[in-house]
Amino acid sequence: MSTATSHTPDSRVNADPQELAKFSELAHRWWDAESEFRPLHQINPLRLDWIDAQAAIAGKRVVDVGCGGGILAESMAKRGANVLGIDLADKPLKVAQLHAMEGCVANLQYRSVAAEALAAEQPGQFDVVTCMEMLEHVPEPASVIQACADMVKPGGWVFFSTLNRNVKSYLFAIVGAEYVLKLLPRGTHEYARFIQPAELTQWARNANLGPVAMKGLEYHPLTQRYWLSGDTSVNYMVACRKA
Ligand code: SAH
Repeated sequence: MSTATSHTPDSRVNADPQELAKFSELAHRWWDAESEFRPLHQINPLRLDWIDAQAAIAGKRVVDVGCGGGILAESMAKRGANVLGIDLADKPLKVAQLHAMEGCVANLQYRSVAAEALAAEQPGQFDVVTCMEMLEHVPEPASVIQACADMVKPGGWVFFSTLNRNVKSYLFAIVGAEYVLKLLPRGTHEYARFIQPAELTQWARNANLGPVAMKGLEYHPLTQRYWLSGDTSVNYMVACRKA
């Protein structure tokens, strides 16, 4: 594990300071599986298996963009990948580092660096890029997608997940999750930033990434369980390969 350098995003960075502050405020509860981060804990085994089934991550160099407290990054390192987690919110990164240190997780590093900056620094250096539940918090998601494409080797894998934008996703992800079930704090998500699959795949193609698979992450409010399905109307993941 390395130490993250403190990094204050400036106006040239593709980041929304309010979004970063929101995640920093909650960071101390990141690894509490009953906290606001419960949904991330619940979906993690599903997305990890889906990513691993396609990209066979053991021994691979992986960058997790917008890694937050490290739920996915750490689980990929435990599967044998050599993982770098990057984020621009300092507190979640500190929590991620501490958690990895306490668990003596090998092959895992964290850095405070923007996706675009890392892409310029290490172009084509990663076998796999993951960017999960992050694009809907960023002012210019297409720029992050381009950066992910630039970081991955030709033939490498890039995985995205985000929230679809339609009436159902508004009702489930905002009204249901933030107001009725109170799974997430109010204001966690902004509807206008949700991304339709056709938008995401177009941005990916523009960046020379070929979308090869898509899965929905469905949630049942009564059983409080998630599962993978073909229904991409709310939360969904896209797997892409670089040409
Ligand atoms: N990817 C993790 C965390 C998702 S929460 C997971 O799925 O488990 C969203 C994360 O995106 C937060 O940690 C937040 O700090 C980060 N984020 C938001 N805007 C960002 C930006 N512009 N650059 C890097 N990270 C960003």
